[in-house]
Amino acid sequence: MAEITESKNFIHAFIDEDIAEGGRYAGQTVHTRFPPEPNGYLHIGHCKALIIDFGTAEKYGGLCNLRMDDTNPTKEDVEFVEAIKEDIHWLGFDWGDRFYYGSDYFEKDYEYAVELIQKGLAYVCELTPEQFKEYRGDLNTPAISPYRDRPIAESLDLFRRMRDGEFEDNRYTLRAKIDLASGNFNMRDPVIYRIRHMHHHRQGDKWCIYPMYDFAHPIQDALEGITHSLCSLEFENHRPLYNWVVENVSVPHHPRQIEFARLGIDHTVLSKRKLRALVENGYVSGWDDPRMPTLCGLRRRGYTPASIRNFCERVGVAKSPNTIPYAFLEFCLREDLNETAQRVMAVLKPVKLTITNYPEGKSELVTVENNPNHPEDGTREVSFSRNLWIEADDFLAEPIPKYKRLYPNGPECRLKGAYLIQCTGCVTDENGNVTEVLATYDPESRGGDPADGRKVKGATIHWVDAENCCDAEVRQYENLFDDPDPDASGKDFLSCLNPHSLEVLTGCKVEAALREAKAPASYQFMRLGYFCPDSKDCTPDHLVFNRSVSLKDSFKPGK
Ligand code: ATP
Ligand code: MG
Repeated sequence: MAEITESKNFIHAFIDEDIAEGGRYAGQTVHTRFPPEPNGYLHIGHCKALIIDFGTAEKYGGLCNLRMDDTNPTKEDVEFVEAIKEDIHWLGFDWGDRFYYGSDYFEKDYEYAVELIQKGLAYVCELTPEQFKEYRGDLNTPAISPYRDRPIAESLDLFRRMRDGEFEDNRYTLRAKIDLASGNFNMRDPVIYRIRHMHHHRQGDKWCIYPMYDFAHPIQDALEGITHSLCSLEFENHRPLYNWVVENVSVPHHPRQIEFARLGIDHTVLSKRKLRALVENGYVSGWDDPRMPTLCGLRRRGYTPASIRNFCERVGVAKSPNTIPYAFLEFCLREDLNETAQRVMAVLKPVKLTITNYPEGKSELVTVENNPNHPEDGTREVSFSRNLWIEADDFLAEPIPKYKRLYPNGPECRLKGAYLIQCTGCVTDENGNVTEVLATYDPESRGGDPADGRKVKGATIHWVDAENCCDAEVRQYENLFDDPDPDASGKDFLSCLNPHSLEVLTGCKVEAALREAKAPASYQFMRLGYFCPDSKDCTPDHLVFNRSVSLKDSFKPGK
Protein backbone atom coordinates (compact mmCIF):
# COMPACT_ATOMS: atom_id res chain seq x y z
CA MET A 1 0.00 0.00 0.00
CA ALA A 2 2.82 2.33 -0.90
CA GLU A 3 0.49 4.90 -2.51
CA ILE A 4 -1.28 5.59 0.74
CA THR A 5 1.44 7.57 2.36
CA GLU A 6 2.24 11.24 2.22
CA SER A 7 3.96 11.61 -1.12
CA LYS A 8 5.98 14.56 -2.27
CA ASN A 9 3.61 16.62 -4.31
CA PHE A 10 5.24 16.98 -7.73
CA ILE A 11 2.71 19.65 -8.73
CA HIS A 12 3.86 21.83 -5.87
CA ALA A 13 7.46 21.18 -6.84
CA PHE A 14 6.72 22.51 -10.36
CA ILE A 15 4.92 25.53 -8.97
CA ASP A 16 7.78 26.27 -6.58
CA GLU A 17 10.06 26.41 -9.61
CA ASP A 18 7.65 28.57 -11.58
CA ILE A 19 7.23 31.23 -8.92
CA ALA A 20 10.84 31.30 -7.80
CA GLU A 21 13.03 34.16 -8.96
CA GLY A 22 13.62 33.76 -12.67
CA GLY A 23 10.73 31.29 -12.97
CA ARG A 24 8.03 31.72 -15.57
CA TYR A 25 5.50 33.12 -13.08
CA ALA A 26 7.93 34.88 -10.75
CA GLY A 27 6.09 37.47 -8.71
CA GLN A 28 2.63 36.32 -9.85
CA THR A 29 -0.24 34.97 -7.80
CA VAL A 30 -0.80 31.25 -8.27
CA HIS A 31 -4.16 30.88 -9.98
CA THR A 32 -5.90 27.56 -10.64
CA ARG A 33 -9.39 26.57 -11.74
CA PHE A 34 -11.74 23.64 -11.32
CA PRO A 35 -13.71 23.00 -14.53
CA PRO A 36 -16.51 20.45 -14.01
CA GLU A 37 -18.83 19.62 -16.85
CA PRO A 38 -22.36 20.20 -15.48
CA ASN A 39 -23.75 16.94 -16.80
CA GLY A 40 -23.81 14.98 -13.56
CA TYR A 41 -23.08 15.21 -9.86
CA LEU A 42 -19.54 15.40 -8.51
CA HIS A 43 -18.03 12.11 -7.40
CA ILE A 44 -15.07 11.23 -5.24
CA GLY A 45 -12.80 11.35 -8.32
CA HIS A 46 -13.75 14.97 -8.98
CA CYS A 47 -13.13 15.56 -5.36
CA LYS A 48 -9.50 14.62 -5.79
CA ALA A 49 -9.25 17.09 -8.67
CA LEU A 50 -10.97 19.92 -6.84
CA ILE A 51 -8.96 19.39 -3.70
CA ILE A 52 -5.83 19.64 -5.83
CA ASP A 53 -7.14 22.79 -7.55
CA PHE A 54 -8.55 24.62 -4.52
CA GLY A 55 -5.98 23.14 -2.15
CA THR A 56 -3.05 24.28 -4.31
CA ALA A 57 -4.46 27.80 -4.48
CA GLU A 58 -4.95 27.75 -0.71
CA LYS A 59 -1.40 26.56 -0.10
CA TYR A 60 0.10 29.36 -2.20
CA GLY A 61 -2.27 32.08 -1.00
CA GLY A 62 -3.60 32.16 -4.55
CA LEU A 63 -6.97 31.96 -6.26
CA CYS A 64 -9.08 29.18 -7.70
CA ASN A 65 -11.89 29.80 -10.18
CA LEU A 66 -14.94 27.63 -10.53
CA ARG A 67 -15.79 27.25 -14.18
CA MET A 68 -18.64 25.25 -15.62
CA ASP A 69 -17.25 23.55 -18.66
CA ASP A 70 -20.36 23.83 -20.80
CA THR A 71 -18.67 24.13 -24.16
CA ASN A 72 -20.41 21.02 -25.40
CA PRO A 73 -24.07 21.91 -26.12
CA THR A 74 -25.49 18.50 -25.15
CA LYS A 75 -26.53 17.25 -21.74
CA GLU A 76 -25.89 20.26 -19.49
CA ASP A 77 -28.46 20.94 -16.85
CA VAL A 78 -28.95 23.75 -14.29
CA GLU A 79 -29.80 21.17 -11.63
CA PHE A 80 -26.21 20.01 -11.80
CA VAL A 81 -24.72 23.50 -11.63
CA GLU A 82 -26.38 24.20 -8.28
CA ALA A 83 -25.49 20.76 -6.93
CA ILE A 84 -21.83 21.19 -7.90
CA LYS A 85 -21.67 24.54 -6.07
CA GLU A 86 -23.29 23.05 -2.99
CA ASP A 87 -20.88 20.12 -2.93
CA ILE A 88 -17.79 22.32 -3.22
CA HIS A 89 -19.00 24.61 -0.44
CA TRP A 90 -19.75 21.59 1.70
CA LEU A 91 -16.15 20.46 1.34
CA GLY A 92 -15.12 23.85 2.64
CA PHE A 93 -13.86 25.56 -0.51
CA ASP A 94 -14.94 28.86 -1.98
CA TRP A 95 -14.38 30.52 -5.36
CA GLY A 96 -15.43 33.98 -4.16
CA ASP A 97 -16.76 35.98 -7.11
CA ARG A 98 -14.84 33.93 -9.65
CA PHE A 99 -17.60 31.77 -11.05
CA TYR A 100 -17.58 31.35 -14.83
CA TYR A 101 -19.13 29.46 -17.69
CA GLY A 102 -16.98 28.18 -20.54
CA SER A 103 -19.78 29.17 -22.91
CA ASP A 104 -19.38 32.83 -21.92
CA TYR A 105 -16.22 32.81 -24.04
CA PHE A 106 -17.85 31.65 -27.28
CA GLU A 107 -17.50 35.07 -28.88
CA LYS A 108 -13.81 35.21 -27.90
CA ASP A 109 -13.26 31.66 -29.11
CA TYR A 110 -14.70 32.69 -32.43
CA GLU A 111 -12.43 35.75 -32.67
CA TYR A 112 -9.35 33.68 -31.89
CA ALA A 113 -10.36 31.12 -34.50
CA VAL A 114 -10.61 33.92 -37.06
CA GLU A 115 -7.18 35.12 -35.95
CA LEU A 116 -5.76 31.66 -36.62
CA ILE A 117 -7.30 31.58 -40.11
CA GLN A 118 -5.89 35.03 -40.82
CA LYS A 119 -2.46 33.86 -39.76
CA GLY A 120 -2.73 30.85 -42.08
CA LEU A 121 -2.91 28.56 -39.04
CA ALA A 122 -6.45 27.22 -39.52
CA TYR A 123 -8.60 26.26 -42.48
CA VAL A 124 -12.08 25.08 -43.28
CA CYS A 125 -12.13 21.41 -44.16
CA GLU A 126 -14.92 19.48 -45.83
CA LEU A 127 -13.96 15.89 -45.15
CA THR A 128 -16.86 13.87 -43.85
CA PRO A 129 -16.32 12.29 -40.41
CA GLU A 130 -15.75 8.94 -42.17
CA GLN A 131 -13.18 10.39 -44.56
CA PHE A 132 -11.52 12.17 -41.69
CA LYS A 133 -10.93 8.83 -40.01
CA GLU A 134 -9.81 7.18 -43.20
CA TYR A 135 -7.24 9.93 -43.90
CA ARG A 136 -5.78 10.02 -40.39
CA GLY A 137 -2.83 7.87 -41.35
CA ASP A 138 -0.93 5.76 -38.83
CA LEU A 139 2.34 6.04 -36.98
CA ASN A 140 4.32 5.59 -40.19
CA THR A 141 1.96 7.38 -42.55
CA PRO A 142 1.07 11.04 -42.23
CA ALA A 143 -2.53 12.14 -42.42
CA ILE A 144 -3.96 13.48 -45.66
CA SER A 145 -5.81 16.76 -45.65
CA PRO A 146 -6.93 17.86 -49.10
CA TYR A 147 -8.28 21.23 -47.95
CA ARG A 148 -5.20 22.33 -46.09
CA ASP A 149 -4.19 24.90 -48.66
CA ARG A 150 -7.53 26.54 -49.08
CA PRO A 151 -6.90 30.26 -49.47
CA ILE A 152 -7.25 32.30 -46.28
CA ALA A 153 -10.02 34.47 -47.71
CA GLU A 154 -12.05 31.42 -48.66
CA SER A 155 -11.70 29.88 -45.19
CA LEU A 156 -12.68 33.17 -43.57
CA ASP A 157 -15.77 33.37 -45.73
CA LEU A 158 -16.78 29.76 -45.13
CA PHE A 159 -16.19 30.02 -41.38
CA ARG A 160 -18.42 33.10 -41.18
CA ARG A 161 -21.11 31.31 -43.15
CA MET A 162 -20.75 28.28 -40.87
CA ARG A 163 -21.54 30.60 -37.98
CA ASP A 164 -24.42 32.14 -39.87
CA GLY A 165 -26.08 28.76 -40.09
CA GLU A 166 -25.81 28.23 -43.84
CA PHE A 167 -24.68 24.61 -43.57
CA GLU A 168 -25.99 21.44 -42.03
CA ASP A 169 -24.18 19.56 -39.24
CA ASN A 170 -20.79 18.07 -40.19
CA ARG A 171 -20.74 19.72 -43.61
CA TYR A 172 -17.57 21.63 -42.67
CA THR A 173 -15.11 21.79 -39.81
CA LEU A 174 -12.43 24.26 -38.88
CA ARG A 175 -9.03 22.63 -38.41
CA ALA A 176 -5.84 23.95 -36.92
CA LYS A 177 -2.93 23.72 -39.36
CA ILE A 178 -0.20 22.06 -37.32
CA ASP A 179 1.53 18.89 -38.45
CA LEU A 180 0.02 16.05 -40.47
CA ALA A 181 2.99 13.82 -39.74
CA SER A 182 3.13 14.36 -35.98
CA GLY A 183 3.63 11.27 -33.86
CA ASN A 184 0.97 12.81 -31.61
CA PHE A 185 -2.33 12.40 -33.42
CA ASN A 186 -3.83 15.31 -31.53
CA MET A 187 -1.48 17.53 -33.52
CA ARG A 188 -2.46 16.18 -36.94
CA ASP A 189 -4.51 19.23 -37.87
CA PRO A 190 -7.13 18.71 -35.15
CA VAL A 191 -10.68 19.90 -35.62
CA ILE A 192 -11.23 23.00 -33.49
CA TYR A 193 -14.80 23.89 -34.53
CA ARG A 194 -17.72 21.85 -35.76
CA ILE A 195 -21.26 22.57 -36.86
CA ARG A 196 -24.00 21.49 -34.45
CA HIS A 197 -27.47 22.89 -34.84
CA MET A 198 -28.23 22.45 -31.18
CA HIS A 199 -29.77 24.51 -28.45
CA HIS A 200 -27.31 25.53 -25.75
CA HIS A 201 -28.58 25.70 -22.17
CA ARG A 202 -27.26 29.23 -21.69
CA GLN A 203 -26.61 30.55 -25.19
CA GLY A 204 -29.93 29.39 -26.58
CA ASP A 205 -29.85 29.22 -30.38
CA LYS A 206 -27.23 31.91 -30.81
CA TRP A 207 -24.63 29.43 -32.01
CA CYS A 208 -24.64 26.57 -34.44
CA ILE A 209 -20.87 26.12 -34.41
CA TYR A 210 -19.17 24.97 -31.24
CA PRO A 211 -15.46 24.98 -30.33
CA MET A 212 -13.79 21.71 -29.38
CA TYR A 213 -12.63 21.36 -25.79
CA ASP A 214 -8.96 21.30 -26.79
CA PHE A 215 -9.34 24.72 -28.37
CA ALA A 216 -11.77 26.31 -25.92
CA HIS A 217 -10.14 25.17 -22.71
CA PRO A 218 -6.70 26.81 -23.09
CA ILE A 219 -8.39 30.03 -24.19
CA GLN A 220 -10.66 30.02 -21.13
CA ASP A 221 -7.65 29.41 -18.88
CA ALA A 222 -5.64 32.12 -20.56
CA LEU A 223 -8.43 34.71 -20.41
CA GLU A 224 -8.97 34.09 -16.72
CA GLY A 225 -5.28 34.50 -15.99
CA ILE A 226 -4.86 30.92 -14.79
CA THR A 227 -1.22 30.15 -14.10
CA HIS A 228 -1.53 26.43 -13.49
CA SER A 229 -4.13 24.37 -15.27
CA LEU A 230 -4.18 21.11 -13.35
CA CYS A 231 -5.95 18.21 -14.98
CA SER A 232 -6.05 14.46 -15.11
CA LEU A 233 -3.61 12.32 -17.00
CA GLU A 234 -5.73 11.65 -20.07
CA PHE A 235 -4.93 15.21 -21.14
CA GLU A 236 -1.18 14.61 -21.18
CA ASN A 237 -1.20 13.90 -24.93
CA HIS A 238 -3.22 17.05 -25.43
CA ARG A 239 -0.69 19.29 -23.75
CA PRO A 240 1.22 20.08 -26.98
CA LEU A 241 -2.06 21.25 -28.51
CA TYR A 242 -2.89 23.26 -25.38
CA ASN A 243 0.48 24.99 -25.68
CA TRP A 244 0.09 25.48 -29.41
CA VAL A 245 -3.23 27.27 -28.89
CA VAL A 246 -1.99 29.68 -26.22
CA GLU A 247 1.14 30.41 -28.25
CA ASN A 248 -0.65 31.08 -31.51
CA VAL A 249 -3.60 33.23 -30.52
CA SER A 250 -3.10 36.62 -28.92
CA VAL A 251 -4.28 35.73 -25.41
CA PRO A 252 -2.99 37.81 -22.50
CA HIS A 253 -1.60 34.92 -20.40
CA HIS A 254 0.18 31.63 -20.96
CA PRO A 255 -0.98 29.07 -18.43
CA ARG A 256 0.90 25.86 -17.76
CA GLN A 257 -0.90 22.53 -17.87
CA ILE A 258 0.17 19.88 -15.37
CA GLU A 259 -1.42 16.44 -15.24
CA PHE A 260 -2.01 14.08 -12.35
CA ALA A 261 -3.37 10.53 -12.14
CA ARG A 262 -7.11 10.01 -11.92
CA LEU A 263 -8.39 8.48 -8.76
CA GLY A 264 -9.81 5.01 -9.01
CA ILE A 265 -11.48 3.17 -6.13
CA ASP A 266 -12.18 -0.53 -6.08
CA HIS A 267 -15.72 -1.93 -5.95
CA THR A 268 -17.15 1.18 -7.56
CA VAL A 269 -17.46 3.02 -10.85
CA LEU A 270 -16.37 6.61 -11.29
CA SER A 271 -17.67 7.50 -14.68
CA LYS A 272 -20.61 9.82 -14.92
CA ARG A 273 -22.04 7.80 -17.79
CA LYS A 274 -22.10 4.66 -15.65
CA LEU A 275 -23.34 6.49 -12.56
CA ARG A 276 -26.14 7.96 -14.62
CA ALA A 277 -27.05 4.49 -15.89
CA LEU A 278 -27.36 3.28 -12.28
CA VAL A 279 -29.72 6.14 -11.49
CA GLU A 280 -31.77 6.04 -14.67
CA ASN A 281 -32.30 2.29 -14.55
CA GLY A 282 -33.32 2.35 -10.90
CA TYR A 283 -30.43 0.28 -9.53
CA VAL A 284 -30.06 2.98 -6.90
CA SER A 285 -32.59 5.46 -5.53
CA GLY A 286 -30.91 8.51 -7.05
CA TRP A 287 -27.59 10.36 -7.41
CA ASP A 288 -27.61 10.73 -3.63
CA ASP A 289 -28.25 7.08 -2.84
CA PRO A 290 -25.94 6.40 0.12
CA ARG A 291 -24.17 3.67 -1.88
CA MET A 292 -23.15 6.07 -4.64
CA PRO A 293 -19.58 7.45 -4.80
CA THR A 294 -21.04 10.90 -5.49
CA LEU A 295 -20.43 13.63 -2.94
CA CYS A 296 -24.16 13.91 -2.29
CA GLY A 297 -24.33 10.14 -1.81
CA LEU A 298 -21.34 10.08 0.51
CA ARG A 299 -22.77 13.01 2.49
CA ARG A 300 -26.09 11.23 2.90
CA ARG A 301 -24.19 8.12 3.95
CA GLY A 302 -22.62 10.13 6.76
CA TYR A 303 -19.23 11.02 5.30
CA THR A 304 -17.81 14.23 6.69
CA PRO A 305 -15.89 16.86 4.70
CA ALA A 306 -12.86 16.20 6.92
CA SER A 307 -12.84 12.49 6.16
CA ILE A 308 -13.00 13.06 2.41
CA ARG A 309 -10.37 15.79 2.38
CA ASN A 310 -8.14 13.62 4.48
CA PHE A 311 -8.64 10.69 2.16
CA CYS A 312 -7.73 12.72 -0.92
CA GLU A 313 -4.74 14.29 0.74
CA ARG A 314 -3.35 10.94 1.82
CA VAL A 315 -3.95 9.40 -1.59
CA GLY A 316 -1.68 12.15 -2.89
CA VAL A 317 -1.13 13.30 -6.43
CA ALA A 318 0.69 10.35 -7.96
CA LYS A 319 1.56 10.58 -11.62
CA SER A 320 0.77 6.92 -12.27
CA PRO A 321 -2.81 5.64 -12.23
CA ASN A 322 -3.74 4.01 -8.95
CA THR A 323 -6.72 2.21 -7.56
CA ILE A 324 -7.34 2.80 -3.90
CA PRO A 325 -9.24 0.31 -1.76
CA TYR A 326 -12.72 1.49 -0.84
CA ALA A 327 -11.77 0.25 2.62
CA PHE A 328 -9.28 3.10 2.86
CA LEU A 329 -12.05 5.65 2.36
CA GLU A 330 -13.93 3.89 5.16
CA PHE A 331 -10.82 3.93 7.30
CA CYS A 332 -10.62 7.73 6.94
CA LEU A 333 -14.26 8.11 7.92
CA ARG A 334 -13.95 5.79 10.91
CA GLU A 335 -10.92 7.71 12.07
CA ASP A 336 -12.81 11.02 11.98
CA LEU A 337 -16.01 9.71 13.56
CA ASN A 338 -14.10 7.93 16.28
CA GLU A 339 -13.09 11.39 17.45
CA THR A 340 -16.32 13.23 16.93
CA ALA A 341 -19.33 10.91 17.04
CA GLN A 342 -21.46 10.65 20.15
CA ARG A 343 -21.81 7.11 21.50
CA VAL A 344 -25.36 5.89 21.89
CA MET A 345 -27.05 2.54 22.31
CA ALA A 346 -29.22 0.97 19.64
CA VAL A 347 -30.38 -2.58 19.16
CA LEU A 348 -30.75 -3.60 15.55
CA LYS A 349 -32.09 -7.14 15.89
CA PRO A 350 -33.87 -6.98 19.21
CA VAL A 351 -34.96 -9.64 21.65
CA LYS A 352 -36.60 -8.89 25.01
CA LEU A 353 -34.52 -9.16 28.16
CA THR A 354 -36.37 -9.32 31.49
CA ILE A 355 -34.45 -8.70 34.71
CA THR A 356 -36.59 -10.92 36.89
CA ASN A 357 -35.35 -9.63 40.26
CA TYR A 358 -35.71 -5.95 39.31
CA PRO A 359 -38.89 -4.43 40.77
CA GLU A 360 -41.78 -4.06 38.35
CA GLY A 361 -42.74 -0.48 37.64
CA LYS A 362 -39.39 0.86 38.85
CA SER A 363 -37.08 2.82 36.60
CA GLU A 364 -33.81 4.68 37.17
CA LEU A 365 -31.26 6.66 35.25
CA VAL A 366 -27.73 5.43 34.65
CA THR A 367 -24.88 7.55 33.40
CA VAL A 368 -23.08 6.87 30.12
CA GLU A 369 -20.15 8.73 28.60
CA ASN A 370 -20.82 10.55 25.34
CA ASN A 371 -17.38 9.82 23.97
CA PRO A 372 -14.77 7.98 26.01
CA ASN A 373 -12.05 9.55 23.80
CA HIS A 374 -13.26 12.97 24.89
CA PRO A 375 -14.30 13.17 28.54
CA GLU A 376 -15.00 16.86 27.95
CA ASP A 377 -17.99 15.80 25.80
CA GLY A 378 -19.66 14.86 29.06
CA THR A 379 -22.12 12.18 29.98
CA ARG A 380 -25.83 11.60 29.61
CA GLU A 381 -28.48 9.73 31.54
CA VAL A 382 -30.10 6.67 30.08
CA SER A 383 -33.18 5.10 31.59
CA PHE A 384 -33.05 1.56 32.88
CA SER A 385 -35.88 -0.75 33.95
CA ARG A 386 -36.88 -4.39 34.31
CA ASN A 387 -37.72 -4.68 30.58
CA LEU A 388 -34.92 -4.12 28.12
CA TRP A 389 -34.06 -4.89 24.51
CA ILE A 390 -30.77 -6.56 23.63
CA GLU A 391 -29.35 -7.91 20.37
CA ALA A 392 -30.73 -11.34 19.60
CA ASP A 393 -27.22 -12.62 18.95
CA ASP A 394 -26.05 -11.61 22.42
CA PHE A 395 -27.93 -14.67 23.66
CA LEU A 396 -27.56 -18.34 22.81
CA ALA A 397 -29.67 -21.08 24.35
CA GLU A 398 -26.78 -23.47 23.76
CA PRO A 399 -23.40 -21.73 24.01
CA ILE A 400 -20.69 -22.36 21.45
CA PRO A 401 -17.03 -22.55 22.50
CA LYS A 402 -15.55 -19.21 23.60
CA TYR A 403 -18.98 -17.55 23.64
CA LYS A 404 -18.80 -14.95 26.41
CA ARG A 405 -22.24 -13.42 26.24
CA LEU A 406 -25.57 -14.52 27.65
CA TYR A 407 -26.61 -18.16 27.95
CA PRO A 408 -28.38 -19.98 30.76
CA ASN A 409 -26.12 -20.12 33.80
CA GLY A 410 -23.38 -18.46 31.76
CA PRO A 411 -20.89 -15.83 32.95
CA GLU A 412 -21.81 -12.52 34.48
CA CYS A 413 -22.08 -9.87 31.77
CA ARG A 414 -22.15 -6.13 32.16
CA LEU A 415 -25.01 -4.14 30.70
CA LYS A 416 -23.13 -1.11 29.44
CA GLY A 417 -23.22 1.70 32.01
CA ALA A 418 -25.59 -0.25 34.25
CA TYR A 419 -25.54 -3.55 36.17
CA LEU A 420 -23.97 -6.96 36.04
CA ILE A 421 -26.47 -9.61 35.07
CA GLN A 422 -26.51 -13.35 34.82
CA CYS A 423 -28.72 -15.24 32.40
CA THR A 424 -31.11 -17.69 34.00
CA GLY A 425 -33.01 -18.99 30.99
CA CYS A 426 -35.31 -17.99 28.19
CA VAL A 427 -38.87 -18.25 26.92
CA THR A 428 -39.53 -19.77 23.52
CA ASP A 429 -42.57 -19.90 21.27
CA GLU A 430 -44.16 -23.04 19.88
CA ASN A 431 -41.49 -23.16 17.12
CA GLY A 432 -38.68 -23.04 19.59
CA ASN A 433 -37.74 -19.42 18.77
CA VAL A 434 -36.48 -17.37 21.67
CA THR A 435 -39.00 -14.63 22.51
CA GLU A 436 -37.57 -13.49 25.81
CA VAL A 437 -34.27 -13.82 27.66
CA LEU A 438 -34.38 -13.99 31.45
CA ALA A 439 -31.67 -12.76 33.80
CA THR A 440 -31.07 -11.58 37.33
CA TYR A 441 -29.04 -8.53 38.24
CA ASP A 442 -26.74 -7.69 41.12
CA PRO A 443 -28.08 -4.46 42.68
CA GLU A 444 -24.62 -3.75 44.12
CA SER A 445 -22.92 -3.58 40.72
CA ARG A 446 -24.34 -0.35 39.32
CA GLY A 447 -22.07 1.70 37.04
CA GLY A 448 -18.42 0.72 36.80
CA ASP A 449 -16.75 -2.37 38.17
CA PRO A 450 -18.02 -3.49 41.54
CA ALA A 451 -16.07 -2.35 44.56
CA ASP A 452 -15.11 -5.86 45.54
CA GLY A 453 -12.89 -6.16 42.45
CA ARG A 454 -14.85 -9.14 41.21
CA LYS A 455 -13.58 -10.39 37.85
CA VAL A 456 -16.27 -10.22 35.18
CA LYS A 457 -15.82 -13.08 32.72
CA GLY A 458 -18.62 -12.17 30.33
CA ALA A 459 -18.76 -9.43 27.71
CA THR A 460 -20.18 -5.96 28.10
CA ILE A 461 -23.33 -5.75 26.04
CA HIS A 462 -25.47 -2.85 24.92
CA TRP A 463 -29.19 -2.54 25.55
CA VAL A 464 -32.06 -0.09 25.49
CA ASP A 465 -34.89 0.40 27.94
CA ALA A 466 -38.08 -1.11 26.48
CA GLU A 467 -40.12 1.36 28.55
CA ASN A 468 -38.39 4.37 27.09
CA CYS A 469 -36.93 3.92 23.61
CA CYS A 470 -37.81 4.64 19.99
CA ASP A 471 -38.43 2.42 17.01
CA ALA A 472 -36.23 2.99 14.02
CA GLU A 473 -35.49 1.76 10.56
CA VAL A 474 -31.83 1.09 9.90
CA ARG A 475 -30.29 0.79 6.45
CA GLN A 476 -27.08 -1.18 6.26
CA TYR A 477 -24.91 -0.93 3.19
CA GLU A 478 -22.21 -2.96 1.57
CA ASN A 479 -20.20 -2.38 -1.60
CA LEU A 480 -22.42 -1.54 -4.53
CA PHE A 481 -20.34 -3.92 -6.65
CA ASP A 482 -19.08 -7.39 -5.73
CA ASP A 483 -16.42 -7.20 -8.36
CA PRO A 484 -13.31 -5.26 -7.27
CA ASP A 485 -12.97 -3.66 -10.69
CA PRO A 486 -16.42 -3.09 -12.23
CA ASP A 487 -15.08 -0.01 -14.05
CA ALA A 488 -12.60 -2.04 -16.15
CA SER A 489 -13.04 -1.35 -19.82
CA GLY A 490 -15.06 -3.97 -21.61
CA LYS A 491 -16.69 -5.23 -18.43
CA ASP A 492 -20.48 -5.22 -18.14
CA PHE A 493 -20.52 -3.24 -14.92
CA LEU A 494 -24.22 -3.82 -14.33
CA SER A 495 -23.62 -7.55 -14.06
CA CYS A 496 -21.13 -6.87 -11.23
CA LEU A 497 -23.71 -5.31 -8.90
CA ASN A 498 -23.87 -6.72 -5.39
CA PRO A 499 -27.46 -7.90 -4.78
CA HIS A 500 -26.92 -7.47 -1.03
CA SER A 501 -25.66 -3.89 -1.08
CA LEU A 502 -28.69 -2.68 0.89
CA GLU A 503 -30.25 -4.38 3.90
CA VAL A 504 -33.20 -2.63 5.51
CA LEU A 505 -33.89 -3.47 9.15
CA THR A 506 -37.17 -2.39 10.69
CA GLY A 507 -38.28 -2.57 14.29
CA CYS A 508 -34.86 -1.57 15.56
CA LYS A 509 -34.79 0.02 19.04
CA VAL A 510 -32.77 3.13 19.76
CA GLU A 511 -32.30 5.04 23.00
CA ALA A 512 -34.59 7.98 23.67
CA ALA A 513 -31.80 10.52 23.08
CA LEU A 514 -32.22 9.85 19.35
CA ARG A 515 -35.89 10.85 19.25
CA GLU A 516 -35.04 14.22 17.68
CA ALA A 517 -32.11 13.01 15.58
CA LYS A 518 -31.71 14.71 12.25
CA ALA A 519 -28.99 15.13 9.65
CA PRO A 520 -26.24 16.16 9.70
CA ALA A 521 -25.24 14.18 12.77
CA SER A 522 -23.22 11.07 13.39
CA TYR A 523 -23.49 8.55 16.17
CA GLN A 524 -21.58 5.53 17.15
CA PHE A 525 -24.11 2.82 17.89
CA MET A 526 -22.03 1.03 20.47
CA ARG A 527 -20.51 -2.25 19.27
CA LEU A 528 -22.16 -1.83 15.87
CA GLY A 529 -20.75 1.02 13.85
CA TYR A 530 -21.28 4.64 12.92
CA PHE A 531 -24.74 5.71 11.84
CA CYS A 532 -26.39 8.93 10.72
CA PRO A 533 -30.01 10.04 10.41
CA ASP A 534 -31.03 9.85 6.76
CA SER A 535 -31.24 13.40 5.43
CA LYS A 536 -34.30 12.67 3.30
CA ASP A 537 -36.35 10.10 5.12
CA CYS A 538 -35.67 10.48 8.85
CA THR A 539 -38.46 12.21 10.80
CA PRO A 540 -39.35 12.16 14.53
CA ASP A 541 -42.30 9.91 13.64
CA HIS A 542 -40.22 7.55 11.58
CA LEU A 543 -36.56 7.49 12.50
CA VAL A 544 -34.28 6.25 9.72
CA PHE A 545 -30.55 5.73 10.15
CA ASN A 546 -27.90 4.87 7.60
CA ARG A 547 -24.91 2.83 8.55
CA SER A 548 -22.02 5.05 7.51
CA VAL A 549 -19.34 2.50 8.28
CA SER A 550 -18.97 -0.51 10.53
CA LEU A 551 -16.63 -0.54 13.50
CA LYS A 552 -14.63 -3.40 12.17
CA ASP A 553 -11.62 -2.32 10.19
CA SER A 554 -10.76 -4.40 7.16
CA PHE A 555 -8.10 -1.96 6.05
CA LYS A 556 -4.58 -2.45 7.27
CA PRO A 557 -2.28 0.46 6.46
CA GLY A 558 1.14 -0.70 5.39
CA LYS A 559 -0.07 -4.16 4.41
P1 ATP B 1 -16.43 11.48 -16.41
O1 ATP B 1 -15.43 10.68 -17.19
O2 ATP B 1 -16.92 10.78 -15.20
O3 ATP B 1 -17.55 12.05 -17.23
P2 ATP B 1 -15.04 13.94 -16.60
O4 ATP B 1 -13.58 13.97 -16.48
O5 ATP B 1 -15.57 14.10 -17.96
O6 ATP B 1 -15.57 12.68 -15.84
P3 ATP B 1 -15.54 16.58 -15.67
O7 ATP B 1 -16.77 17.15 -15.09
O8 ATP B 1 -15.06 17.08 -16.97
O9 ATP B 1 -15.75 15.01 -15.70
O10 ATP B 1 -14.37 16.65 -14.59
C1 ATP B 1 -13.96 17.84 -13.98
C2 ATP B 1 -12.54 17.66 -13.52
O11 ATP B 1 -12.43 16.55 -12.64
C3 ATP B 1 -11.61 17.40 -14.69
O12 ATP B 1 -10.48 18.23 -14.51
C4 ATP B 1 -11.27 15.94 -14.56
O13 ATP B 1 -9.97 15.72 -15.00
C5 ATP B 1 -11.39 15.70 -13.06
N1 ATP B 1 -11.73 14.30 -12.78
C6 ATP B 1 -12.79 13.60 -13.20
N2 ATP B 1 -12.74 12.33 -12.75
C7 ATP B 1 -11.61 12.23 -12.01
C8 ATP B 1 -10.99 11.18 -11.27
N3 ATP B 1 -11.52 9.96 -11.19
N4 ATP B 1 -9.83 11.46 -10.61
C9 ATP B 1 -9.29 12.68 -10.67
N5 ATP B 1 -9.82 13.69 -11.34
C10 ATP B 1 -10.97 13.50 -12.01
MG1 MG C 1 -14.44 16.29 -18.86
